[in-house]
Amino acid sequence: MDVSSKIYVAGHRGLVGSAIVRDLKKNGYHNLVFRNHCELDLTDRSQVDAFFNLEKPEYVFLAAAKVGGIVANNDYPADFIRDNLMIQTNVIDASHKNGVKKLLFLGSTCIYPKYTPQPMREDSLLTGELEPTNEPYAIAKIAGIKMCEYYNKQYGTEFISIMPTNLFGPNDNFDLNSSHVLPALIRKFHEAKVNSSPTVEVWGTGTPRREFLYSDDLANAAVYLMNTYSKSELVNIGVGKDISIKELAEKIKNITGYEGEIRFNTSKPDGTPRKLVDVSKLHNLGWKAQTSLDDGLKLAYEWFLENISNET
Ligand code: GDP
Repeated sequence: MDVSSKIYVAGHRGLVGSAIVRDLKKNGYHNLVFRNHCELDLTDRSQVDAFFNLEKPEYVFLAAAKVGGIVANNDYPADFIRDNLMIQTNVIDASHKNGVKKLLFLGSTCIYPKYTPQPMREDSLLTGELEPTNEPYAIAKIAGIKMCEYYNKQYGTEFISIMPTNLFGPNDNFDLNSSHVLPALIRKFHEAKVNSSPTVEVWGTGTPRREFLYSDDLANAAVYLMNTYSKSELVNIGVGKDISIKELAEKIKNITGYEGEIRFNTSKPDGTPRKLVDVSKLHNLGWKAQTSLDDGLKLAYEWFLENISNET
């Protein structure tokens, strides 16, 4: 890409898309196109075709997807598989038909098999059973990765796929019913501080380990790979380090300035004991995460204070 390349960021308001837009702008890319959901319904093929015909983007970041936590996936499995298959099929095929030079598709580490050895390597995809609670989402995402691969094979396109680990940052989902642990704990500790609650409930035993990547780092990696990587093989994006939920809770407690107690509710599920990606390929390709977890947590809490906390 050069700074005047026409770049379409699908999903520019989400956690990932908004971070990609920030990174592109910061680096001088100024010919960006996006559409809101009400202007362009990506599940509607005719609308997607009309958009690509009109705008003729040269590069596409496909960060639009229907995402949600375990409850949403469980309640709306048909919507998850349908919307994701439709969005990605429409955008990938329209990109091919309109001569897009390069497209970047986003997978997710939750689409690796349930019992993948840790840290998870790229070649573990499709080697075992999926986690049943997110199977509809995972099947759609795997289809997207395979579509990119087979379009490259048959049509000679350059459609690449990346596998981000758990992300957090601005525009995250802070809804306690559907969010992941990190934004959930930011909200819980903040509200407990404001309400002077004596305890904060953290689900599970606190011993499971997770890896967390700040969204701006993911965006930086995505732009870096768009410029330097052209193969069909997946690339994991992560920090290569994990921490326990207990350590995470303590960090967030300190950042929010909460002074009460942490109480582990062991009647809630722990989930997988450990989730960490193997980042050796990413490091070999010349990219490493820059934002420490402490700095990322501070930035995420600032964003929460400015954008979410006053809604409550
Ligand atoms: P996972 O990575 O797919 O297991 O998804 P989550 O981010 O939802 O959960 C990660 C871990 O954090 C699990 O062990 C949860 O039990 C634990 N956890 C602790 N407190 C919370 C909370 O308030 N919300 C969520 N979502 N998870 C929590």
